[in-house]
Amino acid sequence: MKITAVTSYPVKVGFRNQFIVKIDTDEGISGVGEGGMSGRELGMAGMVDHLSRWLIGEDPGQIEHLWQTCYRTSYFEGGNILTAALSAIDIALWDIQGKRLGVPVYELLGGACRDVLPCFATPGALEEGIVAQAQSMYDDGWKVQRFLPVMPADPNEPDRPEEVYEPLEAIDNAIHWLGEIRSALGDGVKLAVDFHHRLSTVETAHFCQRAADLHLYFLEEPMRSENPRAYQQLREMTGVPLAIGEEFASPFAFVPWIEDGITNFARVDVSNVGGISAARKVAAMAEMHYIDMMPHNPLGPITTAASIHYGLATSNFAYLEYQHLIARHNDDALFPNRSRSKEPPSRNRLHPVWASPSITSSPPSAPSSSGTLALAPPRRLLSELVTDGAGIWELGGRIWELERSRSLAFQIPKSQLLTPP
Ligand SMILES: [Mg+2]
Repeated sequence: MKITAVTSYPVKVGFRNQFIVKIDTDEGISGVGEGGMSGRELGMAGMVDHLSRWLIGEDPGQIEHLWQTCYRTSYFEGGNILTAALSAIDIALWDIQGKRLGVPVYELLGGACRDVLPCFATPGALEEGIVAQAQSMYDDGWKVQRFLPVMPADPNEPDRPEEVYEPLEAIDNAIHWLGEIRSALGDGVKLAVDFHHRLSTVETAHFCQRAADLHLYFLEEPMRSENPRAYQQLREMTGVPLAIGEEFASPFAFVPWIEDGITNFARVDVSNVGGISAARKVAAMAEMHYIDMMPHNPLGPITTAASIHYGLATSNFAYLEYQHLIARHNDDALFPNRSRSKEPPSRNRLHPVWASPSITSSPPSAPSSSGTLALAPPRRLLSELVTDGAGIWELGGRIWELERSRSLAFQIPKSQLLTPP
């Protein structure tokens, strides 16, 4: 089998972009992958085009060799654009290999360690209405919930969201709403917060001091993470577990965070770190330090599917990120059982999103008996996701038209848009 084409598709789905790569072969088997550097879709497309010269004509089954070829055939190693593009290529190669051998990808990774994949939920921003949303999701079985701090709304300033982010106001607001959620839901829920890199070391320490009574399960990326020494300083100031790594662009980037004990969960992103191949190496490194994986997963259904395969085959796995507001844009044919159920989860320690290890290429015949959220067969997601042609994408029976004039969501000038496939 030989690779015949490597094609990029930057496309807007719902309210954000997705960057999809499709690899074709001379035997009619194709695979799809997703790159995760949101807002840099044209850069990833350029890199995929550049890397394709080392891929076309090669055996797609030599996944590790092709990974190393793409990563190492330049004197200047690494970089976010390179590994985001390489992530999409790697996932597509695993997809092809699964189809070629007729087995789910997780079987190729060593087989399933579990038949239910634990996830955490993202009920929303810490603002009016969040307590009811958290309670509703808790009642549906989401026992681990992560929230996003915002600045408090000012009724006298309706345009407040346009203003400069004020960390101390956001901290005050977060402490208030997290306290309300803890009071309403009790001690049964595990609470977490993602500050999206917006705080300084002092501000983070201040937040942790004030959050002591809330018993946070983890604090996600309160500060930027270019410098692990800043987090080492923070570590000496707080005992709150940290979750770091969603934007790390190679397995090497995780080395100090894992080996020096700075992070407590590894937030690997299969669509940024270098694909499934690279994410497996991070998991192996973390396992030696009793650190569990908690994959970043805010992208499209291909990343979700790849993360599920990765999670099923990874022993040191904590939770997969699940964002219901993003998943609602995924097609019902791909996520047939995602509607919330009032039935109690059958495995309340390991839920709510599951994927059966026995599923190969056929969709489930009936809704999940677990009564919880269920994903369609991962094999099907990776196998039959994209049918391209004439600028039209067919996704599980639903047609998404590639919006030629608005295919990128981040205000990139029209003149920079790629020619649609
Ligand atoms: Mg995050």
